[in-house]
Amino acid sequence: VKAFELNPARRWAFCLTHPDDEIAICAWIHRLAQSGNEVFLAWTHSNRVRENEARAVAHLLGVPQSNLTFFGATDGRVCDEMTDLLPQFRAYFDEIKPDRVCCGAFECGHIDHDATNFLVNHSYEGPIYEIPLYHAYCKRFQRLNRFAQRAGEEVWNLELDDQKLKISIARQYPSQNIWSILRWYNLFHKPFRPMALLESERMRRQTHVDFLSPNLPPRLAAKVKRTLTWYRWTHAVQAALPAVLREAKAPVKV
Ligand SMILES: [Zn+2]
Repeated sequence: VKAFELNPARRWAFCLTHPDDEIAICAWIHRLAQSGNEVFLAWTHSNRVRENEARAVAHLLGVPQSNLTFFGATDGRVCDEMTDLLPQFRAYFDEIKPDRVCCGAFECGHIDHDATNFLVNHSYEGPIYEIPLYHAYCKRFQRLNRFAQRAGEEVWNLELDDQKLKISIARQYPSQNIWSILRWYNLFHKPFRPMALLESERMRRQTHVDFLSPNLPPRLAAKVKRTLTWYRWTHAVQAALPAVLREAKAPVKV
């Protein structure tokens, strides 16, 4: 199964956490919408300002407003709200019946992202693709839009028009400083190729579903496990388990 596959019959759902996470995969979303695919976008967190920004971006990407969902979870506290969110995610997938679901990777970059990934994995039974956003929270400088380990990743190289689209999308979030972060990051990491992040989009089929062990190379995983954030995460996962087991549909993945 290919991640970047243009089959107009497939229904795609992108479960983002924060309005602006979609920048990482916006050219592919646009390409799918252009190709006539049914595309759904959902955000776990939003508030009024950020919802409006997400709606404007969806319009630019060609996704109809009726295909947008906002779960309204609290920024920075999604992992504490997983018990309440899980039945909502299950109802969402029952309603839209996607063939593919994409979400931010379980990569210990931001526990809100990991929480959305957990929710998707415990409410959708079909193929799940994860998108690298950034990792890991134990590091002072996080790595953007690259998996910590490349095994299984698929890369879609963007043509110039798609790169321009990505720049214009990244400028659509006046409430966030994402555009300056992207520029700063590019200058820091790639001084001779300042726009390297615009050159490709990446996904991989999710196979790691053990949410009590970081999906990272051993040294980085060990470092993550020594953080308070990881401690908080494992407690949140354990607190959400009764909700996972209640009305469990698929074999339980922990
Ligand atoms: Zn985010």
